[in-house]
Amino acid sequence: MSELRIGQGLDIHRLVAGRALILGGIKIPFEMGLEGHSDADVVLHALIDALLGAAGLPDIGQLFPNTDRSWKDADSRKLLALAWERVRAAGWELVNADVTVLAERPKLSPYIPQMKVAISEVLTVAADCINIKATTAERLGFVGREEGMLASAVALLSR
Ligand code: MG
Repeated sequence: MSELRIGQGLDIHRLVAGRALILGGIKIPFEMGLEGHSDADVVLHALIDALLGAAGLPDIGQLFPNTDRSWKDADSRKLLALAWERVRAAGWELVNADVTVLAERPKLSPYIPQMKVAISEVLTVAADCINIKATTAERLGFVGREEGMLASAVALLSR
């Protein structure tokens, strides 16, 4: 019988003017973008921590410290690929991952199919292993005020 492990990840980034909005590896047209050392892709960062968490590995902040200039403005698909290499090297395969992103605007549902494809390409898994959902915060809190976005992910691994 295969060994199963679940992991969860959570990430928050601030919305600012003058940055591109990148979510799930996809560039989304919007008047603001997420601020961060890398491209600040909250969807991928939450997913990375879910995968690392399930594998019992150090978290994204330890693998890719924001003091390391090599990750400045990094494409988070690269971070996902490197984290996934670590997880795979420990013998794990992905059963499935599920991500929820909270954003008041823009409407993200049109971009979700592209995000799933982008992620499944990096992980080299079937697109139906990856699920992404988007919701608003009903105008409540920092998400509702459009000060930031939050993403939460779970991942199930087997070996
Ligand atoms: Mg982050």
